[in-house]
Amino acid sequence: MFIDTHAHLDYADYKDDLEEVIAKATAAGVTRILTVGTSLESSRQAVALSERFAGVYAVVGIHPTNVAAEPRDFYSSLQEIAEHPKVVAIGETGLDYHHLPSEKLQPSAALEALGCEFSAEPEGAVLDGAYKALQTQAFLQHLDLAVKLRLNVVLHQRDAWEDTLRYLAPYNSRLRAVFHCFGGTAQEAMQVIEQGHIISFTGIVTFKNAHNIRTTVAAVSANGYMLETDCPYLAPVPYRGKRCEPAHVRNIAELISQVRGESLDAIARQTTATAEEFFRLIG
Ligand SMILES: [Zn+2]
Repeated sequence: MFIDTHAHLDYADYKDDLEEVIAKATAAGVTRILTVGTSLESSRQAVALSERFAGVYAVVGIHPTNVAAEPRDFYSSLQEIAEHPKVVAIGETGLDYHHLPSEKLQPSAALEALGCEFSAEPEGAVLDGAYKALQTQAFLQHLDLAVKLRLNVVLHQRDAWEDTLRYLAPYNSRLRAVFHCFGGTAQEAMQVIEQGHIISFTGIVTFKNAHNIRTTVAAVSANGYMLETDCPYLAPVPYRGKRCEPAHVRNIAELISQVRGESLDAIARQTTATAEEFFRLIG
């Protein structure tokens, strides 16, 4: 039995055949799925899906790249959603600096006409700083809410490793975070695990060029990681480029079993026990 610890079942990709998708997952041994909210509305839908399907649980939060589009005072609305009994974590939250506002700045024609050397740097730095501050503020509010509700956190970080660890550190003794879609080195994995956190692997581990991440897969402790699809994204080989589904957790587990030299059964048992403990799915 497997658990897909990170799926986006509320996305339109599944609007026509969600029941089949879940039946296929069950047939592949993926009996429980955590569907993760990325906005207030998506979080409400995650909860609704958890009510509709016995094996589906909800994680609720605002994705860092959606923070600017959501109300600034989301805290009490999110708390209301998060108090549902099938909500098992807060997220996905975190920091994502991959695309920053300064990317979109164009040289000013007026300055160019004056023969001035255009530099987007001062304005860009201000815009980027404001954007990062907005994400940080929302991230900290998610962490506060998680502490308040005694839940763990599903964490998204992209190109923001240092800041993520820095803002998370004061919470280390009060909550645990899963660094989802982990793409870091074995040392980086060790660093978060030492602080009481955990990582999870997606279909990326099956990609031909993903040698570095397979090194991490081989090195991580047996109770230091979980499985996830992040579907509809990141379908593993041999489905790469197609719509990903929770059933594909089995393909990810098969690759991990080869890389670690452990049986598929052992991978299933370990990752399921780890997820049950992290998300308190039993007891
Ligand atoms: Zn996600």
